[in-house]
Amino acid sequence: MGVFKIDWALDDAIPFLNPLCREAGTVHIGNTLSEIAASEKLTWQGKHVDKPFVLLAQQSVFDLSRAPAGKHTAWGYCHVPHSSTVDMTETIEKQIERFAPGFRDRILARNTMNTEQLQWYNANYIGGDINGGAATIDQLFTRPVLRSSPYRTSTKGLYICSSSTPPGGGVHGMSGYHAARRALRDFQDRRCVIVSRIFACYICPNLHWKV
Ligand SMILES: Cc1cc2nc3c(=O)[nH]c(=O)nc-3n(C[C@H](O)[C@H](O)[C@H](O)COP(=O)(O)OP(=O)(O)OC[C@H]3O[C@@H](n4cnc5c(N)ncnc54)[C@H](O)[C@@H]3O)c2cc1C
Repeated sequence: MGVFKIDWALDDAIPFLNPLCREAGTVHIGNTLSEIAASEKLTWQGKHVDKPFVLLAQQSVFDLSRAPAGKHTAWGYCHVPHSSTVDMTETIEKQIERFAPGFRDRILARNTMNTEQLQWYNANYIGGDINGGAATIDQLFTRPVLRSSPYRTSTKGLYICSSSTPPGGGVHGMSGYHAARRALRDFQDRRCVIVSRIFACYICPNLHWKV
């Protein structure tokens, strides 16, 4: 799936009805679990929904450097079908307004990005997928290609880690962790090979090993 994303400049903080939501850096706006599940299922089936699950971040509530004094910033997105170019601005803002009446009155400016614009912004966001492509079961193990170590590249000593390697997109850092471990293991293995070859040369000088 892709996403449709909006960045807002706001006159004031988002007036969530629930005070707990005013104190959260990230708010998952979905109402009930069944409403979230239904909207995500329909989107996966290629439809655009009226009440989408909206992931909203309001960093300026905690980081005053994000906006001029007294003003605020926020961004939010909802899932849309892969490569959709439908403008979801109205739908997303209506969904936030449901839980924060008066939100719209606080919007000073906005910037929107549909799936095409997201892909233009970052070529890894294929079809607007901010995880770098669908995280299907096989993709969990075969990014970027199926090989014994997905973190090695064809250039010796050069490793890759990112959402393009297992376990895929997300800000968990596991791709970097596994790539670093792979690199360290290879380094250790190479050191063992070098030491054993030096040792072999020592006990058997007639052998010409390439170290
Ligand atoms: C709006 C949005 C919301 C998201 N929300 C979540 C979330 O809630 N939870 C979650 O788990 N994931 C979320 N994600 C996904 C998550 O951010 C990505 O999966 C993750 O950041 C991918 O990590 P990465 O290291 O592959 O790429 P990136 O984080 O994009 O890092 C790539 C880095 O490489 C740099 N770079 C690019 N080209 C060059 C170059 N030529 N030379 C030098 N540097 C270069 C870039 O500047 C960037 O710093 C979200 C993504 C977006 C866009």
